[in-house]
Amino acid sequence: MGARKGAVVTGSTSGIGLGIARALAAQGADLMLNGLETPGEVQELCAEITKDHGVEVRYSSADMADGEQVRAMIAEAESAFEGVDILVNNAGIQHVAEIEAFAPEKWDAILAINLSAAFHSTAAALPGMKARGFGRVINIASAHALVASPYKSAYVAAKHGVAGLTKTVALESAEHGVTVNAVCPGYVLTPLVENQIPETARARGISEAAVKRDVLLAAQPTKQFVEVEQIAALVTFLASPAAASITGAVLPMDGGWTAQ
Ligand code: NAD
Repeated sequence: MGARKGAVVTGSTSGIGLGIARALAAQGADLMLNGLETPGEVQELCAEITKDHGVEVRYSSADMADGEQVRAMIAEAESAFEGVDILVNNAGIQHVAEIEAFAPEKWDAILAINLSAAFHSTAAALPGMKARGFGRVINIASAHALVASPYKSAYVAAKHGVAGLTKTVALESAEHGVTVNAVCPGYVLTPLVENQIPETARARGISEAAVKRDVLLAAQPTKQFVEVEQIAALVTFLASPAAASITGAVLPMDGGWTAQ
């Protein structure tokens, strides 16, 4: 990855974000972790990543639903690492309901965490990136940035919004050594998804294997979950100097889902 980099990964105390954080640390980046897990869990993670990779690991408990906290987290990372070179906007939540029954506060929370947080963090990190002539903004969107599914109006709207934000900021920063891209995973077996499998199996009276194949992976032609490590490898590549010409791209990693 070249000279030592400072990276912020939002929502990185679990799942995809944690995998990305570990992969960036393995490349020698100092890290700002962020997420809502307990102080005990977070302390353990920081210690483990520091021990494994010898990088500086910090933690921000900033709530991604609050724009001021998002901007303060970027400012804190900038002074800790002498700049944020890599920003991965990954924190995200989901809520499933038909639109007539979709609670307005759930809509507001999803738009704030899944879309507006990326606006605030990017706006705060870009001036430093432009001044240093290097930056990587990588937004973890979803196959739902490209196609829709019923009952996910807020999530699909927010993720489509992330695709638009990605393209716009890529154009605004293209001449400054800054790239802005979105990665669009299909289904990933994070703890969040894993926890739903036994319940769905019971509710539908089918096996857990059938839930994975016929419910979760129904739209995914490979019938394989996307792996956290695969997403982390793509993010690490996008963060590298070799990816300097990839910008404004909305890249599916979805086992063929959006090819249909
Ligand atoms: P996860 O629930 O395992 O992790 C989410 C992380 O975000 C956690 O660290 C959590 O603490 C943090 N978070 C949630 N709300 C927050 C808030 N208000 N402030 C700060 N942190 C907050 O989920 P995941 O599956 O790893 O998802 C990560 C991203 O990948 C999300 O943007 C999600 O939309 C996207 N994604 C996931 C899948 C999938 O199948 N798991 C597929 C496509 C896209």
